[in-house]
Amino acid sequence: MKSASIVVIGGGAAGMIAAYRAATLGADVLLLEKKSRLGTKILISGGGKCNVAHAGTIEEVRARFRPNEARFLRPSFYRFTNTQFLEMLTAKGMETYTRPDGRIFPVPPFDAKDVVAVLEAHLRDAGVRVRLDAPVASVRTSDAAVTSVALESGEVIETAHLIIATGGSSYPATGTTGDGWRWLESLGHPLVPLRAALAPLYLDPVPPADWSGVALRDCVLRARGLNADGSPGKERMKWRGDMLWTHKGVSGPVALGVSREIAETIPAESMVEADFLPDEPFEKVSERLLSHTKAYPRRAVTDFVDAIESVPSRFVRVLMDDAQVDVSTKGAYLQAKERNRLASTLKGWRLGRVRHVPLERGEVVAGGVSLGDVDAQTMRSSKLRGLYLCGEILDIAGPVGGYNLQAAWSTGYVAGETAAKDAAG
Ligand SMILES: Cc1cc2nc3c(=O)[nH]c(=O)nc-3n(C[C@H](O)[C@H](O)[C@H](O)COP(=O)(O)OP(=O)(O)OC[C@H]3O[C@@H](n4cnc5c(N)ncnc54)[C@H](O)[C@@H]3O)c2cc1C
Repeated sequence: MKSASIVVIGGGAAGMIAAYRAATLGADVLLLEKKSRLGTKILISGGGKCNVAHAGTIEEVRARFRPNEARFLRPSFYRFTNTQFLEMLTAKGMETYTRPDGRIFPVPPFDAKDVVAVLEAHLRDAGVRVRLDAPVASVRTSDAAVTSVALESGEVIETAHLIIATGGSSYPATGTTGDGWRWLESLGHPLVPLRAALAPLYLDPVPPADWSGVALRDCVLRARGLNADGSPGKERMKWRGDMLWTHKGVSGPVALGVSREIAETIPAESMVEADFLPDEPFEKVSERLLSHTKAYPRRAVTDFVDAIESVPSRFVRVLMDDAQVDVSTKGAYLQAKERNRLASTLKGWRLGRVRHVPLERGEVVAGGVSLGDVDAQTMRSSKLRGLYLCGEILDIAGPVGGYNLQAAWSTGYVAGETAAKDAAG
């Protein structure tokens, strides 16, 4: 029977860093990856450009996670920082740049595939044994300690130190089909229910086909509950940025930004509305519209709407119709009621009821291994000896912006370090 001092399951972001770190400490490390190549999800991250990390101090980066997640991530974020990860890239000749919003990317022509290539080079340098096309079928334990893993081929590999980094269950074609969660559940590791996060929203009514691909720039998407009479209820979450119409609903940063909060309230219903003028309260918009009609009594009211940068020209008529204001209305003839209806449409254009938040289309999955069952200092499982957990398998889901990869790098690094120390005895 084959054996390895440390076995890492999952050659994604967390697993590669874990294997690398353990091997640099002298451990004999075997990395098992189900797919025929490493880092399949990294390859599609950031639209193929790979937003590798977020700039700022550790405290700033940590603050973007929910409080319990931020507390859990504190030790690993300090142990392996964004700067340290970037140094791993520069050590192999890859420069990065920071966008004004703090997102860090490789300098073109470098992209996601080069990030994976850099990590592969580090794995080679460190002497990690990598096996591709090696899907693990089960994890075996005895007396609450890890003993071996069995591959789908039937092959069994003995190990006393196992790092599970099998990721989440979105984008299953990248290899992440929730395998780790199934093993852990059967081994008595409690899981927090899985939910979509950073996912598009499917709406009812379905948007007209020709809206698909149209973007709204710098708007606020607001998610609300639905009252019994179908009217918009309490605000659940809002997010500012760009929005994209899709053939099933909406996507883009703002949709992803509100998706977790919506998914968490299911089966309660939610609706979403777009605010085209997020910097002005309703009263200000209504006042400005009044001044406009006074200044330009002979001009069509549509001019006012068309001048709003976040409103694509093709939606001017749609918004006027929704506000029940005739498109031919001239400034001098706009009634006070119409003015208020138009201002309120611009401040909260109702896009529809959220029909579905597709977990499999999310950039991450919220839920997973309960943070209470993993030691934040070491990534050791508190349920099974010799087991370490890192990356998206944990109940962590940060916002868009390089936060989720940072969580994978940092928790992976600590898992690898602890496993190597434990293996050295
Ligand atoms: C479309 C998209 C874009 C994204 N963009 C960004 C971005 O720009 N910035 C950012 O910070 N985050 C981004 N993310 C999120 C980020 O990719 C994940 O948070 C991160 O990859 C999680 O790392 P991980 O190592 O835990 O899991 P993964 O990287 O998913 O790796 C898990 C690995 O385990 C393997 N595996 C699973 N089961 C088995 C098994 N039974 N046997 C062997 N191997 C197995 C899988 O094949 C996979 O390679 C994006 C995600 C998606 C889907």
